[in-house]
Amino acid sequence: MTPKTKPKREKTRRAVEKSPSQLTVSDTNTPSEEKRRFEINIFRGWCKCCGICAAFCPRECIRLDEDGAPYVEDADRCTGCGWCEIHCPDFAISVHERKAKEIEAPED
Ligand code: SF4
Ligand code: SF4
Repeated sequence: MTPKTKPKREKTRRAVEKSPSQLTVSDTNTPSEEKRRFEINIFRGWCKCCGICAAFCPRECIRLDEDGAPYVEDADRCTGCGWCEIHCPDFAISVHERKAKEIEAPED
């Protein structure tokens, strides 16, 4: 490596470290923070089953069933990056952070 290429490589390394696709759940938490949890809602009436949300999700939280319809495979892996929302052409998916109250409330 020549001295001229080193700063460029360092810049690239920093950019990759910041990429949402490289994040892990632990990357989103500071040591004093609890794990953040997210709820993923898919509005069936608006969804045209294009599969973009599943393709873009870096954590594979969303899968497609045999008919090509998206479903939430594992919301616990969601980092709240918002890529699925941003890329859905029909505004048919939304992600919001679950409040501590929502997480602790017993299910009916
Ligand atoms: S916000 Fe969407 S794209 Fe990002 S991790 Fe969660 S489900 Fe996947
Ligand atoms: S990107 Fe939107 S329209 Fe396409 S499958 Fe996902 S929720 Fe449905």
